Amino acid sequence: MRKKVLFLDRDGIIVEEDQVDSLEKVKYIPGVFGALSRLCQSGQFHVAMVSNQDGVGTPSFPQESFEIPHQRIMQTLAGEGILFDDVHIDLSLPEDNCPGRKPRIGMLGEYQTDAYDLEHSVMIGDRLTDVQLACNLGCKAIWFADPSRSNELSAELASVCILISNNWAQIASFLLDESKLAPRTTTLKRQTKETDISLSLNLDGGGLGTMETHLPFFDHMLDQILRHSGCDISLHAHGDLVVDEHHTVEDVGLALGAAFLEALGDKRGINRYGHEILPMDEVLAQVALDFSGRPYLQWNVSFSREYVGSFPTELVEHFFKSFSDSAKCNLSVTVSSGNGHHQIEAIFKAFARALRFAVHRNPYSDALPSTKGVL
Ligand SMILES: [Mg+2]
Repeated sequence: MRKKVLFLDRDGIIVEEDQVDSLEKVKYIPGVFGALSRLCQSGQFHVAMVSNQDGVGTPSFPQESFEIPHQRIMQTLAGEGILFDDVHIDLSLPEDNCPGRKPRIGMLGEYQTDAYDLEHSVMIGDRLTDVQLACNLGCKAIWFADPSRSNELSAELASVCILISNNWAQIASFLLDESKLAPRTTTLKRQTKETDISLSLNLDGGGLGTMETHLPFFDHMLDQILRHSGCDISLHAHGDLVVDEHHTVEDVGLALGAAFLEALGDKRGINRYGHEILPMDEVLAQVALDFSGRPYLQWNVSFSREYVGSFPTELVEHFFKSFSDSAKCNLSVTVSSGNGHHQIEAIFKAFARALRFAVHRNPYSDALPSTKGVL
């Protein structure tokens, strides 16, 4: 999971714009503590300060005059849970044309790697040069200014500026709510010599889509996942059915599991566990799952028949084992004796209902449902 970065200016968004060279000059921008606290504690961002401090170390701005108020600012922020992962401060004068001085990005090379998701990262600053820095770096900008000034943005700057606001509460809600409400989706293509599968998944859908494998009974079962999971899924699989059904069933399980793992992202706010006890006439199925990051299949199933129609019942276990392996989930499946068709259909329905609960995301929580700190 690549990290999104929240790049924060200091003067003009955290403290009032000034040469802050004494404690008396530290005046905080209203609302900054609550908003930055929410943003930092959401865990969604790598937080980096990026500030120009003109001519620190020169007689007009001695090092100590910068350091004392700066350390006080950082301590006060830390007391509110606002911790910076990185602090980049350019101490040069404008006429020095230093490569690290905003809007240049000489200090920010470390973020131009695969470890960071710059496209979804945001620079917040009060100057047009902060917005220009976002352009230069390839991230988005929030211009901390009165929205009535929007006409000052050039077309280039407007293209990266996702919000103009000088209201911290609004900015925090904008950034947090956007990501919380964004649907969790993924698309996947899986091609081998045996199968060719394309798949799109939306965990926050409404049970819409189609799943086609050219295996009628299997399609009927996959349709149970679609209808009862609440996820939108489109899946098309072309497998080597002239050999047999084995590769198609296995690879659909692998593809579906991989798509769920990918769409769940960092798993913040999800239920993680899901279970369902589901009756179907004479049969009772019980499925429990845990998106724990560790694959394991408990399979307490004995089918009454070897085939349902032309579909070999042994492949049902293979499907769920493949799903568990690639979704990295713990999956427990138990079913009573009874009609083979009912046994399988009850398992698929119970699985879908358990999935629905496990992937459900609480929009008011960013908590990771684990004591380990990672899932
Ligand atoms: Mg500033």
